[in-house]
Amino acid sequence: MTDASDSSTSVRNDFIRQIVREDIASAKHDLIQTRFPPEPNGYLHIGHSKSICLNFGIAGEFGGRCNLRFDDTNPAKEDPEYVEAIKDDVRWLGFEWNELRHASDYFEVFYQAAEKLIRQGDAYVCDLTADEVRAYRGTLTEPGRNSPFRERSTDENLALFRRMRAGEFADGARTLRAKIDMASGNINLRDPALFRIKHVAHQNTGDAWCIYPMYDYAHCLSDAIEGVTHSLCTLEFEDHRPLYDWCVDRVDLVNHPELLASLAERGWHQAAAKPRQIEFSRLNINYTVMSKRKLLALVSEKLVAGWDDPRMPTLQGIRRRGVPPQALHLLAERVGISKQNSVIDFSVFEGCIRDALDVKAVRRLAVLDPLKLVLTNLPEDLRETLRFANHPKDESFGQRDVPFSPQLWIEREDFMEVPVKGFHRLMPGGEVRLRGVGIVKCDAVVKDGERVVELRCTLDLDTRPGGISVDRKVKGTIHWVSAVHAVAAEVRLYDRLFKVADPDDESEGKTYRDHLNPDSIRSVQAWVEPALATCSPETHVQFERLGFFVSDRRDHDATRPVFNRAVTLRDTWAAK
Ligand code: ATP
Ligand code: MG
Repeated sequence: MTDASDSSTSVRNDFIRQIVREDIASAKHDLIQTRFPPEPNGYLHIGHSKSICLNFGIAGEFGGRCNLRFDDTNPAKEDPEYVEAIKDDVRWLGFEWNELRHASDYFEVFYQAAEKLIRQGDAYVCDLTADEVRAYRGTLTEPGRNSPFRERSTDENLALFRRMRAGEFADGARTLRAKIDMASGNINLRDPALFRIKHVAHQNTGDAWCIYPMYDYAHCLSDAIEGVTHSLCTLEFEDHRPLYDWCVDRVDLVNHPELLASLAERGWHQAAAKPRQIEFSRLNINYTVMSKRKLLALVSEKLVAGWDDPRMPTLQGIRRRGVPPQALHLLAERVGISKQNSVIDFSVFEGCIRDALDVKAVRRLAVLDPLKLVLTNLPEDLRETLRFANHPKDESFGQRDVPFSPQLWIEREDFMEVPVKGFHRLMPGGEVRLRGVGIVKCDAVVKDGERVVELRCTLDLDTRPGGISVDRKVKGTIHWVSAVHAVAAEVRLYDRLFKVADPDDESEGKTYRDHLNPDSIRSVQAWVEPALATCSPETHVQFERLGFFVSDRRDHDATRPVFNRAVTLRDTWAAK
């Protein structure tokens, strides 16, 4: 497990973990089984990490197991590219699944279970069109009406269902529906569809099927097959729970010898006890969108560079941005688990990134907006090597060599020719400490027209490390790199993708496209210390005084260093 989550000392005690604890205490289950069930129709985003941390977290904490299950019942929208990215993301978060399953592994079981429902009088083939089904369904205030096909005989239903499977009917011509209650106050129970006809190839089963199970039927049965004890899902499924229970109870796998035998034959774990669905609130964060539909549109309309664009809230995006997995563990921890829907402020997420990186990122020197500074009282050809700690709070990170010469780059904003009140860095005639070097005084300013191009300074040699005045105080300390040794690097300065807190706001005919932040990416040519060029891709670093950065996992190499800014050191949005 990861360091950031290890550092949390308190025992997590949300309402779901309390239920699990009680179920263990009462010996309801001897093995806790959970699952993370993404539909492979897009990339995972920050919201999914909450569900991943919860499902894998509970399995880990209670000595249980968690499966990764692809809920692939909707072949038209699914793609193997998504399957691979999802596996990669779950592992990146530091989790390993017990078993990798697909809902499509169970298509034959779902089919056999449906025949059982038909034989029990719990399901029927319905010939109503989609529009007719809607019209018969009723509304929140009015009961629905029974389908004219509801009383078909078992034999007729079985024959029709088999012909549906055999491909004899067109898409949408018929459905298999559960026979529950058209007058139920819960619309989900008004004879919901269990199977529909769709002549579409499936990414896992190819052309084997032309009927596909509905989510509500497939999900609960998949849980039952895998022996899932606690089926954790988001609140929008609360109204589906009665249907979940109905399907599990009516199919009653445990008392279906043929199905059990076919499951055992394939080595599939069998249901121990009935799975229990428990709902919790989704993770929502402002300044971003987290619907797969909108994320897909951002990619396909080329509003971002791809699914792993560092501005995207996808796990691939934030990873490339330089967010470590520990930040998501921290976020899950800080947000907690409840049934209360809320929107988390983006700054909470950024705080998690800072806290996670503070403990693991090495410190380095980089200048993003360079201004030349020459130390005139040192020999021009002086070359030295200074020793710098890699981490101010953790000696185990060791030290490194930082080359030094009298020709330096400093950050342009660390100098003000006409300083404003409260400015404590360099100004004409003023003094500042150069980190690890000593105190310098600005004697002269060289200009090209209006633009300052060089500062000519003297170094107080007594303030160098080991000097007699090393402790002399000045108000400001700034960083630098040796211009003789510095390596050019591309630095990509990312900011929030949206400029408003609620990009989903569609008032005044706007869409989230209108809320994109035009300044969400800026690329600069920076000077960095040589140690930065040689780091491997995806190394987390803090550029001292500037922020947390990462060497880009796709584009960075020693001949062409590329860094992405994950987050600034302080919240710069609070003031805006
Ligand atoms: P869509 O955007 O298409 O509705 P989804 O967000 O429901 O998709 P799934 O692939 O079905 O995506 O999600 C897999 C699991 O992750 C589900 O159990 C779902 O409840 C959970 N999940 C999805 N989004 C969030 C979120 N924002 N917070 C917490 N859990 C989430
Ligand atoms: Mg979903």
